[in-house]
Amino acid sequence: MRFKDKVAFITGGGRGIGRAIALGFAREGADIALGDINKTDTDKTCADIEAMGRRGLSIEMDVTNPGSVGEAINKILDKFSKVDILINNAGITKDNFLLRMSDEQWDAVLKVNLSGSFNCIKAVAKPMIKQRSGKIINIASIIGIIGNAGQANYSASKAGIIALTKTAAKELSGRNVNVNAVAPGFIETEMTARLPEELKKKMMQAIPLGRFGSPDDVAAVCMFLASEDAAYITGQTIVVDGGMVMA
Ligand code: NAP
Repeated sequence: MRFKDKVAFITGGGRGIGRAIALGFAREGADIALGDINKTDTDKTCADIEAMGRRGLSIEMDVTNPGSVGEAINKILDKFSKVDILINNAGITKDNFLLRMSDEQWDAVLKVNLSGSFNCIKAVAKPMIKQRSGKIINIASIIGIIGNAGQANYSASKAGIIALTKTAAKELSGRNVNVNAVAPGFIETEMTARLPEELKKKMMQAIPLGRFGSPDDVAAVCMFLASEDAAYITGQTIVVDGGMVMA
């Protein structure tokens, strides 16, 4: 019960990696606020969290809209009076080769993945600074480290998240707020389910541990980073990829 009496806010928390993170924190005692553009999924995850005996809050929100993010934080503070943990997980892909990538594809991905994380960090930083404690975890990707053909927008957004993590860590460390990133490799979710079988086969060959990751593999590292065991870690990006990328 590492997170008893803690409040965790997870964006894009209705399904995939976000849902696994939410259920993981709830299992270890946290109350959970879930923010997602589609409330159908968060309502279901919220019901599952309440069935575990925790308090849950399902919020329809758009991370790209600072007003919507601000309203979400107010709802969380109204219900729980504080926010201890933010997981910036909401993310999208709109793949295309560089020369064919439209401005819309570029802007949409940067807006959700990078600006969305910035908006949420900015909004939770105020209550966390006041509390003099907080843990912020940003979900990046190994693609933000190594790049990937067809993902100029996604790779730039995830590399931006890694840099944003370092700056936020430097700015907030004086107020006891740790900011770290997790960079997953290939994790089995709806986002990766739509990739061609041929590409999946090729990826599998590049994974030394010989399997794709599960959302729970990512959740476990988020929980470690939000725990007191990681009190002396800030500004770091932890790669969770079965060994695909080694520095
Ligand atoms: P997913 O299943 O597609 O879930 C992403 C969630 O974010 C969805 O519920 C989505 O809502 C929500 N979302 C999208 N735009 C939003 C917005 N503007 N405001 C609020 N919520 C929004 O993806 P996933 O695979 O679990 O990925 C979660 C995170 O891990 C992402 O940041 C992704 O880039 C990262 N990641 C994933 C992998 C992987 O292999 N799966 C690898 C590396 C990194 P709707 O879709 O319902 O609209």
